[in-house]
Amino acid sequence: MKTRIVLLGPPASGKGTQAELIKAHYHIEPTSTGAMLREELRRGTELGHAADRLTSRGQLVPDAMINELVAGWLESHGDAFVFDGFPRTVPQAIELDRLLDARNTPLQAVFFFNVPFSEIRDRVLNRVTCRECGHIFKVGLQIATPGEKCPECGGTLCRRSDDTLEALEQRMVEYHQKTEPLVAFYRERGLLFELKGAERPETVFSEISAILEA
Ligand code: AMP
Repeated sequence: MKTRIVLLGPPASGKGTQAELIKAHYHIEPTSTGAMLREELRRGTELGHAADRLTSRGQLVPDAMINELVAGWLESHGDAFVFDGFPRTVPQAIELDRLLDARNTPLQAVFFFNVPFSEIRDRVLNRVTCRECGHIFKVGLQIATPGEKCPECGGTLCRRSDDTLEALEQRMVEYHQKTEPLVAFYRERGLLFELKGAERPETVFSEISAILEA
């Protein structure tokens, strides 16, 4: 069973949904660097505010900031992980290799979510997140209007500050320039598994399960 996993792909490609399914089936808690940054902002820390000035414009935050968060996470957690949205740059991937080498716990699988831009745009402009439990819902699918309460926990649903068309366009520029090179990086290392991210979540998950259990 593979238990050291990276989820790689453009915004709203389904990484968060699959991370939740992996958690439900295999009890590996997902680790999202984006969620860590939003939590820092909610707590009002300096790091949270500094990151938000970049994320709300669709820009990546500096590698050093992210690498420090992840190194701290690895120190205080076990050796099983599902990283959602990390690494997002080649220097971050090199740093992850270094940290894992030092622990003798190499990465086992990188799932690449390939999704057309039209689908990404539709998902980003129609998604809301629960402020309390973090669940993601699609307006017009699981909920009728963005003003509703969370169907899971009754919490307040909100749009992410970077889920606007302008921020999305900038996030895609960052994605193509800085994150997409990781596809070749991990393919060369024999770790990459490509998924059709626009398929139904259950279909994508059954492919992931087969690979994790192989
Ligand atoms: P996400 O929730 O994964 O979509 O991340 C939201 C935003 O947080 C991204 O658009 C970036 O601005 C920032 N962020 C999250 N993870 C990283 C990372 N690994 N490297 C740089 N910036 C990140």
